[in-house]
Amino acid sequence: MRAGNFDAAFLAVGAHIGKRAFIPVGDAAHIMDAVSVLRSMEGEDKPMLGRRVVVYGGGNTAIDVARTAKRLGATETIIVYRRTREKMPAHDFEVEEALQEGVMIKWLSTIISVGEHNLAIEKMVLDEKGYPQPTGEFETMEADSLVLALGQDVDLSLLQSVAGLEIKDGTVQIGSNMMTGHPGIFAGGDMVPSERTVTTGVGHGKKAARHIDAWLRDRTYVPAAKHEPVIFNMLNPWYYSDAPKIMRPVLDAIRRQSGFEEVQGGLNENNALFEARRCLSCGNCFECDNCYGVCPDNAVIKLGHGKRFQINYDYCKGCGICVAECPCGAIKMVPEDAQ
Ligand SMILES: Cc1cc2nc3c(=O)[nH]c(=O)nc-3n(C[C@H](O)[C@H](O)[C@H](O)COP(=O)(O)OP(=O)(O)OC[C@H]3O[C@@H](n4cnc5c(N)ncnc54)[C@H](O)[C@@H]3O)c2cc1C
Ligand code: SF4
Ligand code: SF4
Repeated sequence: MRAGNFDAAFLAVGAHIGKRAFIPVGDAAHIMDAVSVLRSMEGEDKPMLGRRVVVYGGGNTAIDVARTAKRLGATETIIVYRRTREKMPAHDFEVEEALQEGVMIKWLSTIISVGEHNLAIEKMVLDEKGYPQPTGEFETMEADSLVLALGQDVDLSLLQSVAGLEIKDGTVQIGSNMMTGHPGIFAGGDMVPSERTVTTGVGHGKKAARHIDAWLRDRTYVPAAKHEPVIFNMLNPWYYSDAPKIMRPVLDAIRRQSGFEEVQGGLNENNALFEARRCLSCGNCFECDNCYGVCPDNAVIKLGHGKRFQINYDYCKGCGICVAECPCGAIKMVPEDAQ
């Protein structure tokens, strides 16, 4: 940071090192890690996985790599997972799509050794806390390759010379302002303790930008107070008429297995704009003018476009019609002495 003459830096290097498992492995065993397999899909040389591919793990990465193996021509792709479907961290809809494409899943199983063309599996049972426990029952499975999808670690080597950083459970610890233990270095995304999703990472970037801006100005960023959550019975959804359900295109399971075409189509531009215009913006006035129109006492004052409204309490008799008619629950009645 000093060498580059920066006053602050935000780190978001992700978690890209595939976790290894302590499995006895024969010399000729063909073992890869899921992130490397998926990354190599971008290059010219596609990974050589063979005819029978076993994927070890139960998260979204395991599902992604198993579906990829199918598309690369594997005749059998089997996910080996130590717990049950209910306990699987992968999204349920992704598990369903993988099953539709012919991916098989061997539940309650752990891999205990790997040979050149086969691997040994032990059957597990879940204890009362939901943790898998060994049963002493073994079986052998044929496999040309084993892909490990057991989670990813952060590459901390880049941070070795940074003073003051606190590392715990393989992640960089941050304060509520997203700053690490080194003043001026902020961090977010997969490399800090968090739910590892795109939305969380994007949110961290936005939050960190605000804290960095405040830190550079020698201030503290305090987020604006949020209104209380608006629940369904505070809304008037009839404000917009019902719209036809949008059928998003879904590629059939057979075509999915032979290529990398998009499986689940998204909204097109027209659909997206149409739906956005129907947003009720729950709890936030979107200037529909309903309250202004329905108030029997002309107590609602328009402040102009983008400035919303004010209530003239000298005229308001507290009838509550505006509250009842507001489509998005943006008006709240409070007792006079609480104002
Ligand atoms: C296979 C797989 C499937 C996933 N599926 C989903 C999903 O369906 N939905 C979902 O929400 N999330 C999913 N995730 C998780 C999601 O991808 C991550 O949570 C998210 O990308 C994290 O964002 P990030 O910015 O922290 O890190 P990343 O997106 O990993 O970005 C880190 C960037 O830093 C770069 N970098 C690393 N080291 C250095 C360095 N030393 N110098 C310079 N640059 C560096 C990397 O090249 C990379 O571009 C999936 C992850 C994987 C692996
Ligand atoms: S409570 Fe009644 S009088 Fe007061 S602003 Fe609303 S509609 Fe008008
Ligand atoms: S407060 Fe509610 S009713 Fe009044 S303009 Fe805003 S959204 Fe419409």
